[in-house]
Amino acid sequence: MSAFRTLDDADLAGKRVLVRVDLNVPMDNGTVSDTTRIDRILPTIREIADKGGKVILLAHFGRPKGRDDKNSLRQVVPALAHALGRPVTFVEDCIGADVAKAVAAAKNGEVLLLENTRFHAGDEKNDPEFVRALAANGDLYVNDAFSAAHRAHASTEGLAHVLPAYAGRTMQAELEALSAGLDHPARPVMAIVGGAKVSTKLDLLGNLVKKVDVLVIGGGMANTFLAARGLDVGKSLCEHDLAATAREIEQKAKAAGCEILLPVDALVAREFKAHPGHRVVPVGEVASDEMILDAGPLSIAEVVLRLETMKTLVWNGPFGAFELPPFDTATVAVAKAVARRVKAGELVAVAGGGDTVSAMNHAGVAGDLTYVSTAGGAFLEWMEGKPLPGVEALRKG
Ligand code: AMP
Repeated sequence: MSAFRTLDDADLAGKRVLVRVDLNVPMDNGTVSDTTRIDRILPTIREIADKGGKVILLAHFGRPKGRDDKNSLRQVVPALAHALGRPVTFVEDCIGADVAKAVAAAKNGEVLLLENTRFHAGDEKNDPEFVRALAANGDLYVNDAFSAAHRAHASTEGLAHVLPAYAGRTMQAELEALSAGLDHPARPVMAIVGGAKVSTKLDLLGNLVKKVDVLVIGGGMANTFLAARGLDVGKSLCEHDLAATAREIEQKAKAAGCEILLPVDALVAREFKAHPGHRVVPVGEVASDEMILDAGPLSIAEVVLRLETMKTLVWNGPFGAFELPPFDTATVAVAKAVARRVKAGELVAVAGGGDTVSAMNHAGVAGDLTYVSTAGGAFLEWMEGKPLPGVEALRKG
């Protein structure tokens, strides 16, 4: 049974259902260029509509400072209606008399999209008066926007305290996947953390060493750890001022019984570009004018071998500068090994945050992992072990 209230607990027929969704989609020349976020909210919208609720969609778009056409949700209506295969009525505001009128005029099962909640400063301020104004047009609140759940805003958190509140199906799937990843994982658990810098992931590493059995550190951040162990990393991306912090994380890991795996070899090059001419070296043999741009074959083999005994994997961040071939080699090889074990039913693998989704897409495995989260900040805060206000508000009492 879910620890959160879900649509299974809601009586939707004839109700005005305020549904917080993520419609912060990328636009190109006035059209939606990637519909992933729209596709993810369709099951919740359809279920509420099919059960006879009026679906009243709430979302933010961009970072407006007041009202402006560039950030109007009106431009998302065609793509949403097309994906849904049903008409969507747009309302010029998200609070007030016009919304009340449009909601009253809508039949059960119809879908309305209200204008950008961030056109009102009260959304981000979680202003109680703005919360009440939003709530005036709904009987129930459903949150299907995990990606905005790390923010305690009126539309992501405030509403859950004044209306009966439930997780939508996408939120529910995300919470179940994340719970299987770190909260109640099958052991042993491995985490892979890569990406550019240690400085952006200190809290994340601090939390993971307490929770996982093996922590694989890759990407530019591994260079900081290698340098802290006394190795010369040449011209590599490296935060030398964080050497003491890296050593502290290693100590914390040791105390918690978490094994840290760093690369033992690397692909190095003199230039940061695709196909610059590279060589493979042990991590102790990087020349002073070379950069580490990916983990080497021995490092890949070690991670793949260790994966064989793992039951759960949580992954954030690429092993190398994966946008520049051949420095996508380690990320792609490990991602493929992960996908094989997931498909064989031997591993639960959850990935997300930052560039991780594009890295998994690049490796062609995004559809093969147990769950790939498209949430950025919320996924990272969850990996940091922080309670997410929008999620906590949906917890069963
Ligand atoms: P993040 O957003 O922190 O997950 O960082 C992702 C970025 O880290 C990607 O754009 C990669 O190109 C970059 N990256 C990973 N490994 C390295 C490396 N060894 N040197 C430079 N950049 C790297």
